[in-house]
Amino acid sequence: MLPMYKRVLLKLSGEQLAGKYEHGIDTDFGAWLAREVKQVVEAGIQVVIMVGGGNYARGTQLAGHGIQRVTADQIGMLATMMNALALTDIFEHENVATRCMTNVYAEQLAEPYVFRLALEHLEHGRVVIVAGGIGRPYLTTDTAALAVALELSCDVVMKATKVDGVYDKDPAQHADAKRYEVLSLQEAIANEKIKVMDRAALGLAFEHNLPILIFDALQPGNILRAARSETVGTAIRHP
Ligand code: UDP
Repeated sequence: MLPMYKRVLLKLSGEQLAGKYEHGIDTDFGAWLAREVKQVVEAGIQVVIMVGGGNYARGTQLAGHGIQRVTADQIGMLATMMNALALTDIFEHENVATRCMTNVYAEQLAEPYVFRLALEHLEHGRVVIVAGGIGRPYLTTDTAALAVALELSCDVVMKATKVDGVYDKDPAQHADAKRYEVLSLQEAIANEKIKVMDRAALGLAFEHNLPILIFDALQPGNILRAARSETVGTAIRHP
């Protein structure tokens, strides 16, 4: 077993936050998640959360028919903001000290994301939920997750997915599909069939030697296992 991580970034998609619904937020899932994350904080590991916005809007899907790509991405960023605000309240309701910090100027809604303040919150054992990705268009929250994880010296980016890792074939269609325990960043970038993260995100991980973990966060205890660097999912990293 590798040494336990000190600080982790958990990436959650909008789809996951929608839980049993098609849109919006599943508050039951949010409360369950808060309790899972609480175990990580209680284990002394600092937690940053990057939330997606796909349960409301994604820039690539919205652009066109008169809406410019930049505007569409801004709407996407606002979608992440809605998720981050809701999740912050749910976490605090579950007695998990949490701060929402936004990379989109919106002081009435949340604290501006400031590197030093974020570190201070983390050192005090507060979960930091980042809203608005990194505030610029043409990016996804996967790439934003890598950028923020680098900025805050996180040890790993843990991306929660529906499946429990990366497979050599689609496990839904092939009974003999094999899950990789470790996949090199080089292969993840080169192999077009691997679509677990966009190339920009993988490129940042590659350049700066930041490991990514693809795992099923919905299994009870898995977030804690992942944060303790126990073997779950697929680690995408340099060999
Ligand atoms: N987005 C952006 N800049 C960022 C992060 C996100 O422009 O730094 C926009 C982009 O349009 C994206 C949307 O916000 O599609 C929602 O994020 P994402 O698609 O990553 O959400 P997820 O698929 O994880 O739910």
